[in-house]
Amino acid sequence: MSTTAKQKTEGVTNVKFYRNIGIIAHVDAGKTTTTERVLYFTGKKHKLGEVHYGEAEMDFMQQEKERGITIQSAATTCFWTANGIQYRINIIDTPGHVDFTAEVERSLRVLDGAVTVFDGKMGVEPQSSKVWFQAAKYNVPRLCFINKLDAIGGDFFMSLKSIRHELDDNAVAIQLPIGSESNFKGIIDLVAMKAHMFHDEMGKDIEITEIPAENLEQAKEYREVLLDAAASIDDDLAEKFLADEEITYDELVAAIRKGVITGRMFPVLGGSALANKGVQLLLDSVALYLPAPTDIKFITGHNPYNSEEEVTRELTADQPLSALLFKIAMDPHVGSLAFCRIYSGTIQSGTYVYNSAKQIKERVGRIILMHANKREEVSTATAGDIVAVVGFKDSFTGNTICEEANPILLESIDFPDPVVQYAIEPKTKSDQEKMGEVLRKLVQEDPTFRANTDKETGQTIISGMGELHLEIKVDIMKRDYGIEVITGKPQVAYRETIENEISHREVLKKQTGGAGQFADVEIILTPQERGAGYEFIDEVKGGAVPREYIPSVDKGIQNALDSGVIGGYPVVDIKVKLVDGSYHDVDSNTDTFRIVGTRAFKEAMRKATPILLEPIMKVVVSTPPDYAGDVTGALSAKRGQIKGMTNRGKMQEITADVPISNLFGWVNDLRSMSKGKANSVMEFSHYEKVPANVVNDILAK
Ligand code: GDP
Repeated sequence: MSTTAKQKTEGVTNVKFYRNIGIIAHVDAGKTTTTERVLYFTGKKHKLGEVHYGEAEMDFMQQEKERGITIQSAATTCFWTANGIQYRINIIDTPGHVDFTAEVERSLRVLDGAVTVFDGKMGVEPQSSKVWFQAAKYNVPRLCFINKLDAIGGDFFMSLKSIRHELDDNAVAIQLPIGSESNFKGIIDLVAMKAHMFHDEMGKDIEITEIPAENLEQAKEYREVLLDAAASIDDDLAEKFLADEEITYDELVAAIRKGVITGRMFPVLGGSALANKGVQLLLDSVALYLPAPTDIKFITGHNPYNSEEEVTRELTADQPLSALLFKIAMDPHVGSLAFCRIYSGTIQSGTYVYNSAKQIKERVGRIILMHANKREEVSTATAGDIVAVVGFKDSFTGNTICEEANPILLESIDFPDPVVQYAIEPKTKSDQEKMGEVLRKLVQEDPTFRANTDKETGQTIISGMGELHLEIKVDIMKRDYGIEVITGKPQVAYRETIENEISHREVLKKQTGGAGQFADVEIILTPQERGAGYEFIDEVKGGAVPREYIPSVDKGIQNALDSGVIGGYPVVDIKVKLVDGSYHDVDSNTDTFRIVGTRAFKEAMRKATPILLEPIMKVVVSTPPDYAGDVTGALSAKRGQIKGMTNRGKMQEITADVPISNLFGWVNDLRSMSKGKANSVMEFSHYEKVPANVVNDILAK
């Protein structure tokens, strides 16, 4: 087994001691601060930069600093010694903003474990539950870190209760706070039954003591709950527990670890990242409880040449290479960085690898370990590693990297289609060409971002997952590439579909003079449920339409789907059955059947009660109760449907489904309505029929 230079110097050579983790949270819960403190205490960063001054190391993109949100998911490596063993922790930074759900999903895909950070003043917030359940979807084991226990209103027990109630009742406290808010001065470790008392603000002077007498009763009570949970995971421990025998520290650690890895236990910790309290204990827990790559024994994909054939790889270095490319990032100095999670085998700089999704060879120029915007070059990387590769030319997010002789295709990552778009135009004509090139790069980086040229107007149209998503791209173009653009009005990605089933016959006949044209088809259109897409079924009997022309009919229909009969929007969720037709020996050919397919579809769609569909966003507003009335009023005026109202801490939370067309500028409206005290997150929810009285307004625009 080969080792990287980094591993040798750090003495970490065993994948068993790797932890590939992500830190996931609601915006403002303190993910950035926690990550930064982790880097500080692991010695990767020598100075503490306050997040509110925009100095946090992981947020290296300017846009993120300004907006205070983490968009770019960078990967960074650090080392931590727990119980005398050195662990290597690879942190994949995940964004906390819902506009960037795809970023969260793709990073979750390659994580072995996660730390979920909660704002201790708020308990579970909408986005924390969203990322929690996303992580559950990918079976990512999780620790819960209740942050901000130093803040006014920071409440460990309220947050614990809300985690157990709203997320999973297998969440169990393994720590308790000593003191609260400004008097938060220590943490009880319920596994070791010791207290960690903080004597300074920097987290340097920590004394490990017996549990103070006044906290002992409560500590014993919560330890019982923990032991009870651990007993349900480990039979030997259960016997001892029932027999009232002493359970050792090592036994308890092992049982918790087993519970975490199998998704049956979620240890809950507390602290304050900002005040440097509890971060070292969090790192200990990452090391002790979150899985190593080797705890996930194997990964399954299939043969790229035969989707029926399953291919399995053990996650070891001596197996053939398999890696998932989960992110492309453009670096101003080295160009395109392809972030890869290596599942098995070894990757070496200067060699060729195989991209099985695209069936091309790619050269591994250099291999880089990323520490936010600093980097460290290594010559090889191996199973369990997360590295950035320089040199790939045509590989994209979701592609599998392997050996050509031993191909495997891992399950790709699904990304939603964009729902908002606008036209952009460079301020100076000379930037036109450069803009095209930059857009190509941005599209390559972000699979939920698109750039196209409008066929009719020749305008450049960019589309993405929300207004903010597009604004950020425009910012990047300006700041990183010096291209200033004028943006058009945001446009909604409407769709068209039908409401009724219809049968239609279309004949194309031109048989006067010269070569004639003939094609005849009968099709049945059937509406499908939302998200079903397009389906073509051939039910022609007795060769009424010859075999060779059937794909042409399908092609013709697909051409028609690009532009529906209401407003020229893409047509979705329709099943088309080709049931009958006829042909002419001389005058029929693939072209005539393609043309008749297009015409038949358009005519049939007109008769099948066509409707317009619009993207609906799920909007969650968190506001002081004083403004709740105004907020609900404003949402209703936007054709919003209020779905729920709950109290969360001191805030009122309002959930509504609102058409995206009415949400442009919403963030600013809300800010002025609430004097900046309310905030709102939104994400695409589903497509819904546009009410009849609104259709004309939309078409008139
Ligand atoms: P992110 O959006 O989840 O990355 O959150 P940040 O780390 O940017 O933190 C959001 C805000 O909460 C910032 O103003 C931080 O200074 C503050 N913050 C983070 N952690 C703590 C904490 O432990 N205690 C207190 N009182 N504030 C915190």
